[in-house]
Amino acid sequence: MSGEGLKGKVVTVSGPVDSNKLGVTLPHEHFFYDSRSRFVEPEDEIGKEYAHQSVTLENVGWITKNWINNIDNLVVDDEAVAITEAQLFKDVGGGTIVDVTNVGQPRNPGALCRIAQATGLDIVMGSGYYFGYFHPGDMDSRTEDDITKEIISDLTVGVDGTGVKAGLIGEVGFSTPFDPNEIKSLRASVAAQKECGVALSIHPGPGADSPFQIIDMLEEAGADLSRVVMGHIERSSLDMDGILKVASRGCYVEFDWFGTLNPAYPYGPVDVPSDSVRIKQIRKLIAEGHLDQVLVSHDVCFKMRMACYGGPGYAHISKYVVQWMDEMGITPDEIESLTKANPQRMLAVI
Ligand SMILES: [Zn+2]
Repeated sequence: MSGEGLKGKVVTVSGPVDSNKLGVTLPHEHFFYDSRSRFVEPEDEIGKEYAHQSVTLENVGWITKNWINNIDNLVVDDEAVAITEAQLFKDVGGGTIVDVTNVGQPRNPGALCRIAQATGLDIVMGSGYYFGYFHPGDMDSRTEDDITKEIISDLTVGVDGTGVKAGLIGEVGFSTPFDPNEIKSLRASVAAQKECGVALSIHPGPGADSPFQIIDMLEEAGADLSRVVMGHIERSSLDMDGILKVASRGCYVEFDWFGTLNPAYPYGPVDVPSDSVRIKQIRKLIAEGHLDQVLVSHDVCFKMRMACYGGPGYAHISKYVVQWMDEMGITPDEIESLTKANPQRMLAVI
């Protein structure tokens, strides 16, 4: 891609943009998402009553604590609502949203273009494969080479015949333990990254070992770790030492669940930190010399995380978190790095 004069630019759904023009950037969000197939029918009477209700401000309190037991919460598919929610970010000075929705989820290039058009935001679209549960039915028969070519086509030609190009690879998903097809997807992603010079964003599997196992595989495949984002770091079960160890390997560490306190993560007890604990962890990363590797976002993907249902939405970091960072001793220059310079560097084609 850099051969086409894209070096230093970010490929948005509306075309290439100079990376320093992106403004405040959210590196890990979704406008469309569907995990209704993971719905778990509750067994108790109260749960059964809530399970099939539409999400409203009246029931979202219960749903937030039982997020996988309400089917409507698990789908985000309304373009008009997406525009309204994205506008809230634009209204507080937001510049760019990265939609890491990819294969296995309802990626929608046309709608992303319309959201960008309606709001004036820059939007960057993802490519590659989400985790194994969401892989296509014929994934076993797809070769590493097939997947590499497909990702390169998404980045250089456009997605699904639309001509709208993806601007990064991700979120590339993993389960615990790994599905063999996820390893194939990762190796293909690395090959495409080498060819195109874009960032590679990772959704690790549950558990503290997953980020390290993925980093080992990335190194083995010859990935440039300085172009890799280790996402969902706050639900990784890593303590501060563990987070520092991930950073010491050279990748970005992404706190992308800002505004989400306790998601009742269904794979085991995970201490998801509060925003203030996240900020303390970021402060420690900065003190240890990792300022340039930290990214912040919200991962809006369920209705409960949207502002119209009482969740953080896309504007929570801009409206509240930067102020809390300031009050907790992160300097304005450091906040600028976290919200602008770091995601801009991450997204710029090399
Ligand atoms: Zn994810």
